Amino acid sequence: MTTTVLIIDDSEAVRHRIGRILQQHHIFERFLYGGDGLEGFRILRQESVDLVLCDLDMPGIDGYKFLRMVQSDPAQRAVPVIILTGHEDIDSKVKGLGAGASDYLTKVFNDLELIARVKVHLHNKLLQDELRRKNEELARIARIDGLTGVANRRYLMEQLEVEFQRCLRYGHPFALMMLDLDHFKSVNDTHGHHAGDAVLATVAQVISTTLRTHDVFGRYGGEEFAAFLPETDKEDAVGVAERCRAAVADTPVHVGETTLRVTASMGLAAVTDAKLHQLTELVRMADGALYTAKRDGRNRLVPVFP
Ligand code: GH3
Ligand code: MG
Ligand code: MG
Repeated sequence: MTTTVLIIDDSEAVRHRIGRILQQHHIFERFLYGGDGLEGFRILRQESVDLVLCDLDMPGIDGYKFLRMVQSDPAQRAVPVIILTGHEDIDSKVKGLGAGASDYLTKVFNDLELIARVKVHLHNKLLQDELRRKNEELARIARIDGLTGVANRRYLMEQLEVEFQRCLRYGHPFALMMLDLDHFKSVNDTHGHHAGDAVLATVAQVISTTLRTHDVFGRYGGEEFAAFLPETDKEDAVGVAERCRAAVADTPVHVGETTLRVTASMGLAAVTDAKLHQLTELVRMADGALYTAKRDGRNRLVPVFP
């Protein structure tokens, strides 16, 4: 990843003097320059910048205004800004730090001091970037089922609750579809657990692509999946569920030399005028319909319209 510095000063001589010093020390790969606060802010928003060196005294948008603009933009706030001041007085330094600067340097600075301060703030910035990336990754892992790549049970239930409540509030029709693979134990027993895993991953992908983008879908348990279809009336819900059933039955799963075929039984509870108040009631109805589908011979969809 390239590290980028943005140097903002109305004096071209100062900009390039600082740029030269930083170049000699190989801290940054990319150098951007702005002649005042406004130009600097525009560059900051367009480019990925790791550290800013900014003059305080500039015509138009000066360093203080620049700092305020950076602070009020959540996307830029994390970028460290070191202010450069011609003043030795404490006031302007304090004011600059108060406006959100990470540090300051007076213009008659020592090269090594500039380098040392820049290194400290760049190091912190890069550590924070890394931490943010890791947190995002952890949040993603906490929601996703590792085997199939779809929502895990916890995240699925969270999303189901949200969508269920939203449909109730607006009086929209909705449906819950539950799907359980048929005789899945025998897939494991005959072809091994590894083959069973491959089947689960394929089935999850097949259903994901068959559903619409605003449908909520996830792994409910071992070889069971569930989908909530918001704003969907009975006929459409049956159509979608039937397409899912057919897609599972029609998709071969290749495991090494072997080609497997699996089917699924499905229960669907489609609700038009909401007489329900709890998601658990909806789940119970879809589950009951799924049980009927199993009993009636599997590889079939049983809809109920409470
Ligand atoms: P039915 O048609 O009645 O649903 O029969 P079934 O064999 O599918 O149902 P049963 O509940 O008896 O067995 C489910 C099997 O799913 C047993 C379990 O080992 C398997 N299973 C659950 N989770 C996983 C998994 O993550 N990977 C693999 N390979 N198998 C799994
Ligand atoms: Mg099961
Ligand atoms: Mg099963």
